Amino acid sequence: MPELPEVETVKRTLNMLVTGKTIEHVQVRLPRIIQKPQDIQMFEVLLQGQTIERIERRGKFLRFILDDYVLVSHLRMEGRYGLYAGDDPLELHTHVLFRFTDGSELRYKDVRQFGTMHLFPKGEDLTQPPLHKLGLEPLDESFTLKAFTERIAKRSTKIKPLLLNQEYIVGIGNIYVDESLFLAGIHPEREASSLTRKELEKLHKAVVETLQSSVDVGGSSIKSYVNGQGEIGMFQHQLNIYGRESEPCKVCGSEIYKTVVGGRGTHICPKCQPLKRTSPRKKIDI
Ligand SMILES: [Zn+2]
Repeated sequence: MPELPEVETVKRTLNMLVTGKTIEHVQVRLPRIIQKPQDIQMFEVLLQGQTIERIERRGKFLRFILDDYVLVSHLRMEGRYGLYAGDDPLELHTHVLFRFTDGSELRYKDVRQFGTMHLFPKGEDLTQPPLHKLGLEPLDESFTLKAFTERIAKRSTKIKPLLLNQEYIVGIGNIYVDESLFLAGIHPEREASSLTRKELEKLHKAVVETLQSSVDVGGSSIKSYVNGQGEIGMFQHQLNIYGRESEPCKVCGSEIYKTVVGGRGTHICPKCQPLKRTSPRKKIDI
């Protein structure tokens, strides 16, 4: 599944490719991709004549900002965008086509068919599902240590599932949560409320650094991820812990093991990420 860095890369690529283009015609070939409006013909008609101002991102959702509407698109497992000439042959699993007035065509492909699109009148998308309950943006200026601590510090939940919960912080998926916890030296099963101020500081820094460094190189290539221009990301070789079961830790040489935390496959270095079951709780001033 694309995570925040991959979606950020797709967003940047799409901004280069389709900003300023005007939609002439829309064709939906798989109705279930379109979640709103229910009427597929309405979706196609409302988009006609709309110009793409820019593309933004909220969590793992892309937001196409148009003249009068916002198109919210989630790639889920395998969704991809590509820009084609209008007369290019249609590839398998192409479900939505946006024909522009200049003859080019943005095509949405999705082998697994789990992706979604919602169309809202401008100004209404952030206050309605699926975007209304999303938490902090980890790459935004608003993601301060204070804001992070307020969301995390007092919860009795294990830290890994908490970081994966999109209502607290958006966009951190299974790869980057393992990487961030490793970098911060925190065991994924630690109770969030047991983290010391210093650990929270390290974790906050680790989340930002992990995501930012991945955005800088164009997202991860795990599961053959391809961005909007067909470029495969280059982050995989930089992963320190994810996918490295039974391999030596790059820091201490201990054997990395894999277990399940909160229903998700989880990679841990036993030495760098000790599970301090009896760590004293320190009062955290927010
Ligand atoms: Zn280690």
